[in-house]
Amino acid sequence: MQQTHTQLDHSAEALETLQHVFGYPAFRAPQQEIISALLNAEDALVIMPTGGGKSLCYQIPALLRTGCAIVVSPLIALMQDQVEALQQLGVRAAFLNSSLNPDDARSIEQDWLDDRLDLLYVAPERLLQARMLALLDQVSPALFAIDEAHCVSQWGHDFREDYLQLSVLHERFPGVPRIALTATADARTRQEIAERLKLTDAHHFLVSFDRPNICYRIALKDNPRGQLLRFLRDEHDKDAGIVYCLSRKRVDETARWLVEQGFNALPYHAGLPTETRAEHQRRFLREDAVIIVATIAFGMGIDKPDVRFVAHLDLPKTVEAYYQETGRAGRDGQAADAWLVYGLQDVIMLRQMLDQSQGSDAYKREEQHRLNAMLGLCEVTTCRRQALLAYFDEKREEPCGNCDSCLNPVATWDGTEAAQMALSAVYRTGQRFGVNHLIDVLRGSENDKIFQNEHHYLPTFGVGKALDTRQWKSVYRQLVARGYLSVDMARFGALCLQESARGVLRGEVEVLLRQDPKASTARRTTKTALPEHIDVGLWEALRECRRQLAEDQGIPPYIIFHDRTLQLICEQRPKNVTEFAAISGVGDRKRDKYAEAFLRVVNNSEGTG
Ligand code: ADP
Ligand code: ZN
Repeated sequence: MQQTHTQLDHSAEALETLQHVFGYPAFRAPQQEIISALLNAEDALVIMPTGGGKSLCYQIPALLRTGCAIVVSPLIALMQDQVEALQQLGVRAAFLNSSLNPDDARSIEQDWLDDRLDLLYVAPERLLQARMLALLDQVSPALFAIDEAHCVSQWGHDFREDYLQLSVLHERFPGVPRIALTATADARTRQEIAERLKLTDAHHFLVSFDRPNICYRIALKDNPRGQLLRFLRDEHDKDAGIVYCLSRKRVDETARWLVEQGFNALPYHAGLPTETRAEHQRRFLREDAVIIVATIAFGMGIDKPDVRFVAHLDLPKTVEAYYQETGRAGRDGQAADAWLVYGLQDVIMLRQMLDQSQGSDAYKREEQHRLNAMLGLCEVTTCRRQALLAYFDEKREEPCGNCDSCLNPVATWDGTEAAQMALSAVYRTGQRFGVNHLIDVLRGSENDKIFQNEHHYLPTFGVGKALDTRQWKSVYRQLVARGYLSVDMARFGALCLQESARGVLRGEVEVLLRQDPKASTARRTTKTALPEHIDVGLWEALRECRRQLAEDQGIPPYIIFHDRTLQLICEQRPKNVTEFAAISGVGDRKRDKYAEAFLRVVNNSEGTG
């Protein structure tokens, strides 16, 4: 009885904080329960996709519990962003990390000891210093939040030695509730987090991994630059986005070319000087509509909510990488695109990189396996989202309606006979030749290489005239992707038969192939960021107002208001402060600070019609 009573009290308090401080009308699915657990001094382990709303889960209890909450985060750039965003809301937040000079750090510590802070963000290595732990003894923290908790996993890419020692928090401060958060969903990592952080008694909150606002599209590479240009011009001419390429050279070339095409594009890779990288990242965050062209070095620690597209000009190596990279789009929940073009050449190149990489055979086999899963996703003829979620062990019953397969259903054809011909050409030529020569054999081309190798005498010579070169390429690509053929890099990309090809050659297996569309035709039906009916003049004026306010304070525009809030202002045209305050994303502090400026913009626009 007593228990229920306090929980009721908590939920009213929590809702009030959500509405007045953050300006949102209601909680998303498990936020309320997570907050209640912490307010009842219980631990929580939260697995929620990017953009799901993890931060509120500890920020609200931090405000409601006595004392200052400690947030452990490995990403220095993110800390600053989060603290700026909180300060905009009138929340007393600060961070301690190596980017501060000793005087500033001391003054923050003093604020903390004098109870002038609600949230303190700390890098893990700093938190674990004896000095810091001693300070913690004096203050009795409100809670510990361990962000990016998958960093404890030794299997993951983001492993951090310091994270392993965070279990000390439990041992030294057993009464202080802890919450660990991550967007990494696989069961092994989850288990590791629970064990290593001693969170075995914690409530587990597992939210679907799905990112419904992201539209997944994977097209065949045909003329990649032309395809990218069409995609950008048609759908994202004024949006911020990321274009990923595999090599530094390609990054530089692509960025230069995009600038020639009139886009505000900047390169980013590990070969650029640190200052250049920092400057490009800064412009990406602070200016509107900047495109970053990058290797995978870019992304960790980028929390920009209004990235409207992530485009891949090269195939990612694993589904995990693809999901993580595309996940940087649309954190604000607004529509966003994940766009990828790939071809047989990508497969050959990745296999080559893998072959030449250091690492044990077991490692290479594992990576090969992961690459095959990525290829499988590219070739799937059904809903991409279903396939993607299935890879992460999540079952989705219905096709999503928001991926290229759903928007433009893929036709399939019975490719059994074609597959037999293609495999047999590989076999008859001794598994020593690449795709182009094999296609010449099948199509009966009479050239020097054919005559030198006496391939015009083979029974397969000329049997495949019914299909053109493009169609044969598609057949070979799909046979490689499905593992009937492997690519031998030691022999310049020669195709070799795999065990599974036997069944096809014997006619025991049917092969259903994807009918490749002529070009990348899948198009989402709406423009991503802006609904059709929006008043573009007003929208631009609101953006300009936001940009100006952000510039005056030296912060990114999205920290003033997210696109979603700006869009609501544009649609609802508030006439006074009360109407302005009712818009989602406008809390008390932002109402006081910004109502006047934005109301003026709305009024002026009505004056001019
Ligand atoms: P995560 O850390 O899980 O990637 P964030 O905490 O950054 O996600 O939240 C993603 C976005 O959703 C932010 O713009 C945040 O302000 C917004 N958000 C979170 N909770 C709510 C809510 N209950 N109502 C409306 N917006 C929310
Ligand atoms: Zn779908």
